[in-house]
Amino acid sequence: MKELELYIHIPFCIQKCRYCDFLSGPADDTSKRRYTEALIREIEAVPDDRDIRITTVFFGGGTPSVLPGEWTAAILETLRRKFTFAADAEITTEANPGTVDKEKLRVWRESGINRISFGCQSSYNEELRMLGRIHTWEDFLMSYALARESGFDNINIDLMSGLPGQSLKAWETTLRRAAGLKPEHISAYSLIVEEGTPFASMELDLPDEETERMMYSRTREILKEYGFVRYEISNYALPGRECLHNVGYWTRTSYLGLGLGASSLIGNTRFTNTPDMGEYLRNSANPGCLRRNIEHLEEKDEIEETMFLGLRLMRGVDKHRFEQTFGTTIRKIYAPVLEKYIDLGLLAETEDAVFLTEEGVSVSNAVMAEFLLDSY
Ligand code: SF4
Repeated sequence: MKELELYIHIPFCIQKCRYCDFLSGPADDTSKRRYTEALIREIEAVPDDRDIRITTVFFGGGTPSVLPGEWTAAILETLRRKFTFAADAEITTEANPGTVDKEKLRVWRESGINRISFGCQSSYNEELRMLGRIHTWEDFLMSYALARESGFDNINIDLMSGLPGQSLKAWETTLRRAAGLKPEHISAYSLIVEEGTPFASMELDLPDEETERMMYSRTREILKEYGFVRYEISNYALPGRECLHNVGYWTRTSYLGLGLGASSLIGNTRFTNTPDMGEYLRNSANPGCLRRNIEHLEEKDEIEETMFLGLRLMRGVDKHRFEQTFGTTIRKIYAPVLEKYIDLGLLAETEDAVFLTEEGVSVSNAVMAEFLLDSY
């Protein structure tokens, strides 16, 4: 059986955060209902293939938790009718604090959702306000407690460092407050000021490079005290609680994206659904018409992606899997790069894998860039 991951895009948020360039925005209930109906039509139109086994489902956005619980359950029910699910499939929904209540959490549990990823970002209300978030730290604590009471035993907390005006001490406090709640997983990304966002046109008092560097290294040290292991450049989990869906991305498992603007990788083909809502609503029953940017990857592209994405994982790129997939070894293709960076102490190699060392992680972009293949 072929394994497949599913990504479901819910492009709605209560209000736009000042740093966000995701395909998302506010909408009224009628628009949300129309979209959910269109999404269900898109799922129903996927060609049947009983030889596929769904290992993970991820509701992302936007803020998937703005939909009524019953609508999310209806989407999942349609997915189950269409696909064969692994018995232990990881089914995650992103949620914003303040958008969940007991009833919604109950419906989610009953529908099979077994993981929640809370967009918390900070434990300081002034930082949350400055980011344009809709919630306070207290809202987050309440939502987190409700999720635990409702039986969710796999929870991620998203946090963000490098915020305007944020001190190293404030970041450390946020990390300790979040880790002290004992979630299974913490994602800790640093703020990127994206073009076209309100932040891009503001004078921001961003932490200097040295503070940013300290924030990154302290993240690992502090989370380690609480039992978290860094398994990817920006992701930390208790042992055995890594996000399987994202590990799938980094190891190039096929995934099908459903919904507005959703991206897919099926075998060696990448494509993206239209980002135009009108077009999506009109054509969702005919997924072929939604597809944009269809790219058939050559072997060279697949090898590069395998290295870039795999090196993000602390366990690195699996040498045996690489050889099975490409019929050649990493060493045969990349001997000079491996030698150079192993000598510099930035890469390491064992019988089974090639991976970034601790020093390598801090300059990962520069190292990864050398895995581009000019000629192959
Ligand atoms: S909640 Fe998330 S998706 Fe929505 S605007 Fe904020 S950052 Fe963007």
